[in-house]
Amino acid sequence: SLMDKIKIPKATARRLPLYYRYLILLNEEGKEKVSSTELSEAVQVDSASIRRDFSYFGALGKRGYGYDVKSLLGFFKKILNQDTLTNVALIGVGNLGHALLNYNFKRSNNIRISCAFDINSDLTGKIVSGVPVYDMKDMIEQIREQQITIAILTVPQINAQKTANEIVEAGVRGIMNFTPVRLSAPAGVRIQNVDLATELQTLVYFLESDKKIED
Ligand code: ATP
Repeated sequence: SLMDKIKIPKATARRLPLYYRYLILLNEEGKEKVSSTELSEAVQVDSASIRRDFSYFGALGKRGYGYDVKSLLGFFKKILNQDTLTNVALIGVGNLGHALLNYNFKRSNNIRISCAFDINSDLTGKIVSGVPVYDMKDMIEQIREQQITIAILTVPQINAQKTANEIVEAGVRGIMNFTPVRLSAPAGVRIQNVDLATELQTLVYFLESDKKIED
């Protein structure tokens, strides 16, 4: 992909989806130009970083003129592989798993959950929110057949590591980890942690300490 050819810093790569989502919005509103200052306010990244990020892809903007929304959009689309649909697996169809199956990832990204897995026979063999739920014993076969490389992990904490090992064995190279467990995985496997309870606890903590400062 383009991403392999252009060497960009990790921090820049992480900001690309932010830019991309905002550009989609601007395009839908019919806006043709955007300045780095406007972008900065919308995505909460300082404009110097935005200009630097964009410079990795060659100077796409003109001074005092702004960036062309359509051409930026086309460019990011290629970089983010948006012209190919990415299939993702979901493991563990509990409360959170159900919510994610319901969530329309396709609205802003070309990503969809194409299969889900669980051990609960009340769930397996059914279609939940348009997604087939398979038994865990079919996991390796399905993941290999569909050439899935990304999985969302929403199993209970106690089964997290064991399940992670299984999906890595099946060929998964990226795990979106919604369990609070810090997973270990072989080199070459990427893990993104999304620990909702801890994030919420952090927010509570910050508000509490803000209050103490005010008092
Ligand atoms: P949450 O709200 O965290 O999604 P929950 O309370 O609905 O969870 P959990 O006990 O956390 O339920 O389990 C989530 C789902 O994971 C359940 O549907 C459960 O059957 C499934 N599950 C449990 N162990 C495994 C496993 N080893 N492999 C696959 N799925 C599993």
